[in-house]
Amino acid sequence: MSKQKKFILQENEIPTQWYNIQADMVNKPLPLLNPKTKQPVTVEDLAHIFNLECSKQELDTQHAWIDIPEPVREMYTYYRATPLVRAYALEKALDTPAHIYFKNESVNPLGSHKINSALAQCYYCKQEGTTNVTTETGAGQWGAALSYAAKIFGLEAAVYQVKISMQQKPYRSSIMRTFGATVEGSPSMSTRAGKDIITRDPHHQGSLGTAISEAIELATTTPHCKYTLGSVLNHVSLHQTVIGLEAEKQMAMAGEYPDKVIACFGGGSNFSGLAFPFMRHNLLDGKQTEFIAAEPSSCPKLTRGKFEYDFGDEAGYTPLLPMYTLGHDFKPANIHAGGLRYHGAGTIISQLVKDKLMHGVDIPQLEAFDAGLLFSRTEGIIPAPESCHAIASTIREAKKCKESGEAKVLLFSLSGHGLIDMTAYESYLSGDLRNYTISDEDIAQSLQNVPQVPMK
Ligand SMILES: *Cc1c(COP(=O)(O)O)cnc(C)c1O
Repeated sequence: MSKQKKFILQENEIPTQWYNIQADMVNKPLPLLNPKTKQPVTVEDLAHIFNLECSKQELDTQHAWIDIPEPVREMYTYYRATPLVRAYALEKALDTPAHIYFKNESVNPLGSHKINSALAQCYYCKQEGTTNVTTETGAGQWGAALSYAAKIFGLEAAVYQVKISMQQKPYRSSIMRTFGATVEGSPSMSTRAGKDIITRDPHHQGSLGTAISEAIELATTTPHCKYTLGSVLNHVSLHQTVIGLEAEKQMAMAGEYPDKVIACFGGGSNFSGLAFPFMRHNLLDGKQTEFIAAEPSSCPKLTRGKFEYDFGDEAGYTPLLPMYTLGHDFKPANIHAGGLRYHGAGTIISQLVKDKLMHGVDIPQLEAFDAGLLFSRTEGIIPAPESCHAIASTIREAKKCKESGEAKVLLFSLSGHGLIDMTAYESYLSGDLRNYTISDEDIAQSLQNVPQVPMK
């Protein structure tokens, strides 16, 4: 055997700390604002919604390294470290000189990277005496991860799932219920926010924005109940850095260092998780890795959104977040990559984009599935529709290498597998999928409802 396919770490090499990029950023993210007072939110403000420890992590710009609690690290051993894989067969199919690696986050039983943060959030909730957790879920991966993590740490979980996703991916709610969670389609009639949305638009198909509003409302009106979020926020990105910290060691085992790091982009958690540990070396050691966030062309907040203060949810319950946004009531097309249908980008990522330390790229739905098919047929793993966007972006880069003859090292995040997304593949295979383009007018329209707050 001459060529090594997989790079595997032992359990004792799983990181003991997460990496907080905020500490190393020259331009820190702008503060989150209280929507009423327009003053920066404090840890105490956040702790009304989230557990205290995550509230602290959210605003921590001091500590670059944060210890992973031992019970969380112990649960990481159930499925980590995840393999780093060299995609030889994909390289061959593309006839590219590029070296393509992927970090395979699809190998845990829940099928995506979301579990890395779900375990941390539920652990902290339990420590602080919380009994119940709520959340929203789009495609259902986060809801599934949270349901499992809640069960592990002895919490009750209530999940609001985007209505359209519930219809497209019925098995996801079965998974959540198998782990003991209660699941409701959003918008629902069980919250004030849900009722208001249905009154305005009886056929509303739901969005992450509506589901977040409902979950926050439940958390803030129920004793001992905290809200949890699977993406977008800084503490979620922090927990996901376990991905990139492992990948860094594994790339060293392969004797390589990535020229380009690529991940799909919904709210930024798998991107941040893989990218930040490598970006650290751009910030501190003069490395020049390029970081590419692949978003769907139907929800192009990084490339066509505006850098503004906006709400994280439809009803306006969250603090104001300084971020690239398409507007908090943006209604994305019903693409199958449900996890990428979020209107905003998070505060760290937005600052990094503004400072040109990374950039977005837009991938049409059909190109994403073309890439997913090629990856399935070469590497033998059916990728999540979200992950297909990262693969498509990687393939674009590999083709550039073919033209230029350069053997660049490309590393992408396989954020999840697509085995519960086969309805999406079915419509792709039967020729029913189409691309959605969004006009500048539509974007301008939904940006009109962004609250007008100066960016200081
Ligand atoms: C949720 C999800 C995404 C998108 O969320 P990010 O926070 O941007 O990572 C991507 N891929 C998979 C498999 C997901 O479950």
